[in-house]
Amino acid sequence: MDADLVRALHLVTEDRRGARDDLAAPHHLFQTSTISALMDARYDGELTIGEVLRHGDLGLGTLAGLDGELIIVDGEAHVGRIDGSLSPVDPSTTTPFAVVTPFTPGDPVTLTDLAHDALLARLDAMAPAAVSAVRVEGAFRRLRLRSVPRQRAPYPTLGDVVKEQAEWEAGAIDAVVVGFRFPAEAAGLEVPGWHLHAMARDGSTGGHVLVADIASGRAWLDAADEVHVELPPGVHVRAASAAEREGISRAETRPGTG
Ligand SMILES: [Zn+2]
Repeated sequence: MDADLVRALHLVTEDRRGARDDLAAPHHLFQTSTISALMDARYDGELTIGEVLRHGDLGLGTLAGLDGELIIVDGEAHVGRIDGSLSPVDPSTTTPFAVVTPFTPGDPVTLTDLAHDALLARLDAMAPAAVSAVRVEGAFRRLRLRSVPRQRAPYPTLGDVVKEQAEWEAGAIDAVVVGFRFPAEAAGLEVPGWHLHAMARDGSTGGHVLVADIASGRAWLDAADEVHVELPPGVHVRAASAAEREGISRAETRPGTG
């Protein structure tokens, strides 16, 4: 693992038997598997959503078979699917990749009229640590979301799956956006930069955020000082190659042309 990342956070790997007393300690992130494993088409569920929720009440990820975009808000799990719908997730559903934290933010900051890049710059300026969790809530001028189609084995790579992704405009809506910022050095572990998922306040839609222009709202941030990564058998934490970083960026952070 990259020395800069080790300095930026306290990384703890554990197996499924690595039970801890402090399942949901403040400022700890819990993550199952890694973004590199997801890029390598490991889409089978490892943990149940019920188990994931024991580690935190705010987060994101996906479901087994890459069945949509997982959004965890206020301890409730929702999934945004490729048809633009949003549904509650049964706790017995499994996930191959999820990140959660018991959200313990500081005081909120007011946000007014920020286009996507300006919003991310503001969050960067506010972020209390290299690894931070965020919740943004308010009236959005524009929210462009994406989701991915459910896959069946043998699984294609994530790079191929996102070519089939659906993107849609949620329009001007009240929404909750949640997610995390990881440093560039975390590329093998997580999506570098801000990784955000959103759900409409009225429950009408949700997904992975491609563009979020906010009209007015508030943001809460929480510093993470430890990242607990539970590694499925055969998955190792390692730094991503330049090609892998490019693939992650293409799969997770760039809007498509469609
Ligand atoms: Zn996502």
